[in-house]
Amino acid sequence: MNAEILAVGHELLMGEIVDTNSSYIAQQLAGTGITVRWMSHIGDNIDHLSEAFKRGLKRSDIVISTGGLGPTSDDLTREAVSNAVDEEMNVDPDILSWLEAVFANRGMEMPPTNIKQAMLIPSATSIPNPDGTAPGWWVEKDGKHVVIMPGPPRELKQVWEVTVGPRFAEISGTGVTATRTLKTLGLSEGGIDEILSELFGQENPYLGIYAHTDGIHLRMIGRGLDQSAAEKVIGPVEAEIRRLIGDSIWGTDEDTPAGRAASILIDRNQTLAVVEGASAGALASMLHALPERESFFRGALVPGSGPVHAGHDTASIDENGAVTLAHLARESLSADVGISVTPVDMTDGIVYIGMVSNSGTHVAKGRFPRHNPEWLMQRSATTAIVQLMDALSSDRI
Ligand code: ATP
Ligand code: MG
Repeated sequence: MNAEILAVGHELLMGEIVDTNSSYIAQQLAGTGITVRWMSHIGDNIDHLSEAFKRGLKRSDIVISTGGLGPTSDDLTREAVSNAVDEEMNVDPDILSWLEAVFANRGMEMPPTNIKQAMLIPSATSIPNPDGTAPGWWVEKDGKHVVIMPGPPRELKQVWEVTVGPRFAEISGTGVTATRTLKTLGLSEGGIDEILSELFGQENPYLGIYAHTDGIHLRMIGRGLDQSAAEKVIGPVEAEIRRLIGDSIWGTDEDTPAGRAASILIDRNQTLAVVEGASAGALASMLHALPERESFFRGALVPGSGPVHAGHDTASIDENGAVTLAHLARESLSADVGISVTPVDMTDGIVYIGMVSNSGTHVAKGRFPRHNPEWLMQRSATTAIVQLMDALSSDRI
């Protein structure tokens, strides 16, 4: 079966928001028997929207949309679907009383404009939206499906998980999918491709390889009639990957370098302090966001134009300077491990990352373009946390 995704909203065409909904839906469908063939962005215009749904119904088995289900006059997705399938909308009494109850719970009277959120056409059933006021529609007509869902990403995700995803799994006859990501560091994409060549190209489980700032990720998608069957499909391939490149795997699924570094430090009963120039607080933000921060994170110094410490100003840009600053972090914040991200070198854009603990010192470096300060901050912080995780897990510090 093939599908297409329509992302609705003027804001998308103005470049004001990025269309994460379409990627979410496409990710959910990957590995099912439903192939996404097209994705489009359409503004809040009734003619353009009606045309997009009509075209979708001609060329695709399934048309999935997000956005335009709100109560205002520029929310036109329902009207467009009614036009495309040539059916009239009517107020559904059950949806209306649910909607009135939602407003009553919020201590408000339902504004009359919201009535349109209780509309249905004869070939549509309502898709519950427990987090919002806009239920979706599931239209089945002439063997085709049109599924319209709300725009706010949190509501979309909920609606997908509860209703839409399981129903598509049923329709496609492929059951459910299980995914597993293995995160590696130290090997190149080409190198991994060569070592694991036998495992690529299979349908079930499907194995994908993706380069990220924290290394190369390997993602397996398995299909089965139920969750445990889908996971069983992944098992042997995961075991084979671990046998071949297990030493380079640092984490799975939702693991992050910051979380991994934190858990090694906590296991070792050690604390961490930071001095950061080029990353300007971005490394501290990453560490601060961890729920376990109080168990290991002592704090960060972010130098501005003044000296950080007598004799070491922000121009400390070489390897020795990086180590000195890492010592400074450690001593001034009474931590076991110190890490520094030096300011960017004025001539060639090299950032040094110095790391110091009782058991040793280590320096890593990264080269970054300096024309985009925001990017430099993020990239140098990511590099620093990945290098810290690597140095800790290989006992270099
Ligand atoms: P509402 O009831 O909030 O009006 P809606 O279904 O009409 O919901 P929109 O008005 O199109 O949805 O979008 C609401 C908000 O959801 C947008 O302002 C935007 O923040 C977010 N949003 C909409 N479409 C997308 C998308 N494709 N990707 C990411 N975010 C989106
Ligand atoms: Mg809206």
